Amino acid sequence: MSDIHIEPYEKTLQVRYRMDGSLYKSMNLPLSIKNALNSRIKIMSQLDITERRVPQDGRIRIKLGRNRAVDFRVSTLPTLFGESIVLRILDKSSLNVDLTKLGFEKETFTTLQRCIERPQGLLLVTGPTGSGKTVTLYSVLNSLNSEDTKILTAEDPVEFNFKGINQVNVKKEVGMTFPAALKAFLRQDPDIIMVGEIRDMETAEIAIKAAMTGHLVLSTLHTNDCPATIGRLVDIGIPPFMLASAVTMVLSQRLARKLCVHCKEEVPMPPKEELIALGFNENDFEKEFVIYGPKGCQKCNGGGYKGRVGLFELMEITDEVAKAISAEVPEDQLRKIAVQEGMTPLRRAGVKKVIEGVTSIEEILRRTVITEESLPAYLVHPDIEEYEDGDFIIRQNNNDSDFFKLVIGAVSVVKDGKKIAEITEPGEYFGEMSAISGEPRSASITSKGRAKVKRFPGDKLQEVIQKYPDVASHLFKTVVNRLNQANNIIVKLANDRAKKPE
Ligand SMILES: [Zn+2]
Repeated sequence: MSDIHIEPYEKTLQVRYRMDGSLYKSMNLPLSIKNALNSRIKIMSQLDITERRVPQDGRIRIKLGRNRAVDFRVSTLPTLFGESIVLRILDKSSLNVDLTKLGFEKETFTTLQRCIERPQGLLLVTGPTGSGKTVTLYSVLNSLNSEDTKILTAEDPVEFNFKGINQVNVKKEVGMTFPAALKAFLRQDPDIIMVGEIRDMETAEIAIKAAMTGHLVLSTLHTNDCPATIGRLVDIGIPPFMLASAVTMVLSQRLARKLCVHCKEEVPMPPKEELIALGFNENDFEKEFVIYGPKGCQKCNGGGYKGRVGLFELMEITDEVAKAISAEVPEDQLRKIAVQEGMTPLRRAGVKKVIEGVTSIEEILRRTVITEESLPAYLVHPDIEEYEDGDFIIRQNNNDSDFFKLVIGAVSVVKDGKKIAEITEPGEYFGEMSAISGEPRSASITSKGRAKVKRFPGDKLQEVIQKYPDVASHLFKTVVNRLNQANNIIVKLANDRAKKPE
């Protein structure tokens, strides 16, 4: 249970509670105890009992036994029929801050660990309200909390108190805003900083500056998925190149209700095409699986669900993703690249949980949207290839149109059996003329010693140009150079002819 709602209506005083994100009705209390109950709660939470016309916030701590205490955050709101009171239960013992138990897929978890172990950078967690962002951040902080690390947090408000972490409540009324807290933090020699939420340019700017000057900075944003988060920060006013170098990862998440393990039941398998349309893929059908749905029993109060599990989409800012961010590619393009770089989109994360029997299809349809329809059946993904001394990479007169970028080593250009040039500079391109013109190869390219090259598919030139701005700019330069060369020859011929005496 996470909240208790005490709501006055004309004829009743209703009590409801929230569990696993859903609201349940608990009881009706007699109206006669309304004032006494309100006053009691307000005294306990040190609120002004004479003030009934404006909202108030307070806190109650109740000791349970010697070592356990439960905190309640109390909020009052004057409504038509009296004050409505909501108690948010902040029970630390029910708070699961074990990163390994939040529901991460294995690969996503490995990536997450790699990102949080870096000494600096901005880590962003995104999702709508109630998607579990705070718990994820607390879990990350908890896993990084040690004696040799100084951690500072600015929260609105502090929900759970952790030993060894310096937590600060944001209070706008006294000027203690997120940016003000952040500025002060930087003078406190921290290693890790958490700022509750990035809402404005000022907070974003300081957070990014901190992330670029040796601090690990954690924060949240209200966005729907990882690529959209980058767009939001650009909209706020942060230059894309700065995001590309400061942001380490973006984690987008949702909470899905878990099927009750005592009563979940197998549902008839929908047709394969239907499942594919929902986000399942061909590989999923290699192994047999069953799909479960909710039934309802005493243990789950008849709802069929008990507990919740996180669905995670993690976009690591790899070199390729950073390049795309700097080049300001559109959001769906960024999503494609992130997927190629290993990101599991939210819907896919949900599908995996359905296959594991943890949740139902309805639940993931409610929590996630499908984004993969923007993905083409094939993906441009340049492969790295290795060649031994003398191997042919391109053969003269062949009609293939792939082109290459030298990664390591050197290659020779051979025309009609004679070596005419060498390419030794890593990063240089070769073979691109055939990709542009569609004409047969004018020369062979062979490996000189061992070489590593990146292969770009010539038949997907348009996509390559869209996705790799640096390749596109090189291709255009090549075309312009050739045109210039041709032009120079023509001009020279014309001049020579003009000089000839008639
Ligand atoms: Zn059940």
